[in-house]
Amino acid sequence: MGWSSLFSVFLVFSAVVGLSIGSFLTVVVDRVPRGVSIVSPGSACGNCGLRLGLLDLVPVFSWLALRGRCRRCRTAIGIEPLVLEILTGGMFLAFAVHFGPSWGAGAFDVLAAGLLALSWIDLRTKRLPREITYVTAAIGAPLLVTAALVVHEPRRLVDAVLGAVIAVAFMGLVYVGSRGGMGDGDVRLSPLLGMYLGWLGLGYVPVGLFIGFLFGSVVGVGAMVVGKAGRKTALPFGPFLAAGTLTAVFVGRAIIDRLWPT
Ligand SMILES: [Zn+2]
Repeated sequence: MGWSSLFSVFLVFSAVVGLSIGSFLTVVVDRVPRGVSIVSPGSACGNCGLRLGLLDLVPVFSWLALRGRCRRCRTAIGIEPLVLEILTGGMFLAFAVHFGPSWGAGAFDVLAAGLLALSWIDLRTKRLPREITYVTAAIGAPLLVTAALVVHEPRRLVDAVLGAVIAVAFMGLVYVGSRGGMGDGDVRLSPLLGMYLGWLGLGYVPVGLFIGFLFGSVVGVGAMVVGKAGRKTALPFGPFLAAGTLTAVFVGRAIIDRLWPT
């Protein structure tokens, strides 16, 4: 098999894994905020209690086949599971294209899954459950270490640690300065973002955080203009930090080269 067909197989594989992880995340975002186990019992219809079988759990396709309704009682499941599955699959595919078949792709897939779950929950409940932040870091860190060592770039690990320290120091200052405008969950999330951004290169840390704040202010000002939010309305900030970090993975290099030409 040639390189290009091998690469295509990797892309398809990544997308399918992403869709399946996305399906699992729909359970995570539903249960973690309620403090319910994510493994047992298995998924069931919220209305009639029908236990979902293996076929019901096939991402996207089962939703489309049943048109987003329960197989037995026809209660609408809603479009949210479909959106979360497609977003996760899309992120895994994007990282597969960006990183190619590598440990780096796997490490960043873990970040994408964690950030999607956290953002989803933050938008709904204005909370960033610390368990998800910690689990993402605990799975992601060893993958980043492996990804750096197999390409003989141990320097990345130093920058990952520095990135985590810089990000948490900066967000800690913002937290104190905002006097309650920013949640402590955002501060707790920041070393995870800094670790990943630093692994890519120290310049990615300010770029990623800046893009996050930019997204936050654009949406915040927009919400004020359309009258949906006052100046004191707390905006869930996690999704913006997450979006800034994920965006920086793809555009960070171009921005850094313009800011600090070598
Ligand atoms: Zn049902």
